Amino acid sequence: MLLLGMKSDLGLARVANEDSCLACVLPCREIGMGLLAVADGIGGHRAGDVASRTAIGCLEAEVATALVQGMMPLAALGQAVRSANRAVYELALTQERYRGMGTTLTAALLTEAALFVAQVGDSRLYLCRGDACRQLTTDHSLVSELVKNGELSADEARFHPQRNVLTRAIGIDQQVEIDLFSYVLQPEDVVLLASDGLFTLLDNTAIASHLTPGADLQQVAESLVAAANERGGHDNISVVLAKWGCA
Ligand code: MG
Repeated sequence: MLLLGMKSDLGLARVANEDSCLACVLPCREIGMGLLAVADGIGGHRAGDVASRTAIGCLEAEVATALVQGMMPLAALGQAVRSANRAVYELALTQERYRGMGTTLTAALLTEAALFVAQVGDSRLYLCRGDACRQLTTDHSLVSELVKNGELSADEARFHPQRNVLTRAIGIDQQVEIDLFSYVLQPEDVVLLASDGLFTLLDNTAIASHLTPGADLQQVAESLVAAANERGGHDNISVVLAKWGCA
């Protein structure tokens, strides 16, 4: 069975939680397929909250429908993320207070053997194997571009004043460019998705230190959020974990 953990927290400095997340099992194969997602909303007057919730809700409904129709996992994810983009974009046109809202969206489908990932923005997916956690997604952010071009170090990027500037987001344009890829899973692999409120404060090593073998994933999610709050909790903090195993 798929073991899950999920926690989304306001943090210590924000007045609203504009992150949304999802961890569920879709009843589409004998043992089901995991669907995980983290979205970090952007937009004033709490519109970011509307954007992230709209994206996650649309993703869940559209992925389930596409899989039932027999679509392959990666294609289903791509179609669902495009639908989520349209839903947020169209909602943003309906009301003045929603204008300019958007959200990151990192989403994954899991079978026992493989992981399928869709990425827009700067939330992240990590693969934790053994005692190491490795980021599999690429951040679509200005600082990530600067690191790639050798203009910033990874450490400078973590605390850069413009680290929140995204180069891609859901809901900003009618079309969205999505990173889509698959990855072969090994038994005992843990998949972790997080918003920047977690990984700005905890690097890969600090995140991995919470994943002791056999640990309950809900407790891991809660201890990761607590650790980010102990380090200041300057932003909303969301983390989703999944692993195939026995309860
Ligand atoms: Mg954030």
